[in-house]
Amino acid sequence: APRLVWLRSDLRLHDNTALSEAARQGPVVAVFLRCLPQWQAHGHGANKLDFLNRGVTALAEDLAGYNIPLLHREIDHFDAAPATLLALAEEVGACALHFNREYPLDEWRRDEAVIAAFDRQGLTVKAHTDAIAFAPGELLTGQGDYYSVFTPFAKAWHRALTSERLALRDTPAVQAPLEISSEPVPELPALEDTPAAPERWPAGEQAAADRLERFLRFRGRHYKEQRDLPAVAGTSELSPYLALGMLSFRQCCQAVLAENDGHLNEGDAGLTAWVNELVWREFYQHIVIGFPRVCRHRAFQQHTEALAWRDDEAAFTAWCEGRTGYPIVDAAMRQLVETGWMHNRLRMVTAMFLTKHLLIDWRRGEAFFLRHLIDGEFAANNGGWQWAASTGTDAAPYFRIFNPTTQSQRFDPEGTFIKTYLPSLATLSAKQRHAPPAGDLLDQADYPAPIVDHKAARARALDAFKALKSDA
Ligand code: FAD
Repeated sequence: APRLVWLRSDLRLHDNTALSEAARQGPVVAVFLRCLPQWQAHGHGANKLDFLNRGVTALAEDLAGYNIPLLHREIDHFDAAPATLLALAEEVGACALHFNREYPLDEWRRDEAVIAAFDRQGLTVKAHTDAIAFAPGELLTGQGDYYSVFTPFAKAWHRALTSERLALRDTPAVQAPLEISSEPVPELPALEDTPAAPERWPAGEQAAADRLERFLRFRGRHYKEQRDLPAVAGTSELSPYLALGMLSFRQCCQAVLAENDGHLNEGDAGLTAWVNELVWREFYQHIVIGFPRVCRHRAFQQHTEALAWRDDEAAFTAWCEGRTGYPIVDAAMRQLVETGWMHNRLRMVTAMFLTKHLLIDWRRGEAFFLRHLIDGEFAANNGGWQWAASTGTDAAPYFRIFNPTTQSQRFDPEGTFIKTYLPSLATLSAKQRHAPPAGDLLDQADYPAPIVDHKAARARALDAFKALKSDA
């Protein structure tokens, strides 16, 4: 009897724990459950959903090379997963189900329901740790709590890491053809938005592997100096691939080990800085399990729930549309909407601008990002937003408010990034591009004056935060 492998955000054939384990035991049938209404209810938009669909299609082809059929089912809600999978197991005569864990609350609950349903039928079901090195709960503080601060988490991560945890899982052998044939991956129905720039993001494992190789060959060693410069392609742009598992963190780590004399946290400064970002990724995965309130739209720091966020539709729209009058913020928002991706430095700048300068609830920004990001991933997105809003784990202290103009001068000194996304400002000097002077030039460029004054907005945010009673 075959084993069912339920693929989700682990869309790869290589180094896939569930697939590898199942294939070691016998023949495998893969299944993908498309749950569009629920994913949309979670806030994912066309960029991510389109990339996902293309990723499943690419994987189906890769699996076909190993005679592993991929079955495809549509469900409307996670609640339908247990019955759908049980029916499939019966249909193909499967003796077991394997999958890799996903950690946000709804996904966790869905999986627990599936496990319970299979248990009730006396069928084997195995949930594997795959997306991260340590299952949540395996890495705790001396007091037995989840880490809520990154640096000690990262130290513990490096300390406890073993070569076994980083070892690439075996690729399944080509299996004898089964009597079950693959089902074509249905096209994605028309969604509210159209995908922004799908050609920039070829889907699949091969595309991810090529990107990783190019990054390590040409940019990895310069990552530390270049990672904060949005005009330079200095980061890996692997986030969409990691978010959907077209690439694994183990593959990333192994590639670094090979480049860096077998080290992850010493040796080349660029490569080790990059590994640190992979540890951030894992940190936020642990946070969603350790502190599930963050999955219920709640602040990590509970006292910040009382913050008097402003209702200001006009300001929110200006932020979404890139018309705040702060060029670095506006160029960044246009990068997001036009490409489905935004540079990390700018995610911090724009998120802080929304939550501090405009004093608008981080949850609105979080949702807008998720709708547009091709790498939209709950844990990292929520973690990033709560960091910027000073409501989160390692949050930026509320009084450290980025000055967008200074950030712009520092990280886009020539205004090159600004010019790319706000071409109407190209005629200004590089210096003026950070803060265009009022007057004719601005009118000609059809560019708005700043919608808030930095100093006044900063004072307003400080007052709002000072009014909170700390629960520390
Ligand atoms: P690189 O610099 O090459 O980093 C390598 C990988 O490490 C990334 O691909 C990503 O998987 C991981 N990583 C890097 N930085 C972080 C971080 N701060 N937190 C968690 N993981 C990280 N990342 C997402 O993957 N999905 C999101 O939805 C998301 N939303 C964010 C929202 C805000 C407000 C902020 C401040 C950050 C967010 N990030 C998110 C984290 C980070 O901005 C992106 O992962 C990064 O910009 C992706 O580009 P890259 O692949 O070139 O990263």
